[in-house]
Amino acid sequence: MEFQYNCPLCNGLISVREPCPECGCLMEDWGRIQDYQDPYHPYLDMNTTAPGEQRERKCVHLFKCPQCGYDTRLVVNQILAP
Ligand SMILES: [Zn+2]
Ligand SMILES: [Zn+2]
Repeated sequence: MEFQYNCPLCNGLISVREPCPECGCLMEDWGRIQDYQDPYHPYLDMNTTAPGEQRERKCVHLFKCPQCGYDTRLVVNQILAP
């Protein structure tokens, strides 16, 4: 039985209302930053990680200001799914 971790932000359980430090405009969640990166994870291709340990239990979201284009990353701790 494997535990399932989910990102509460991806699943809509929480919402983040982060004002832009540059202009104060509310920043938008652009989704998981993993989705923008190379899906092949070359540095994880060494077969050194045990099965079940490969899942990262943090979710990094990209937040971007629609007003001035400022962007930042927010690390969300994943929670154990019920
Ligand atoms: Zn997420
Ligand atoms: Zn801004």
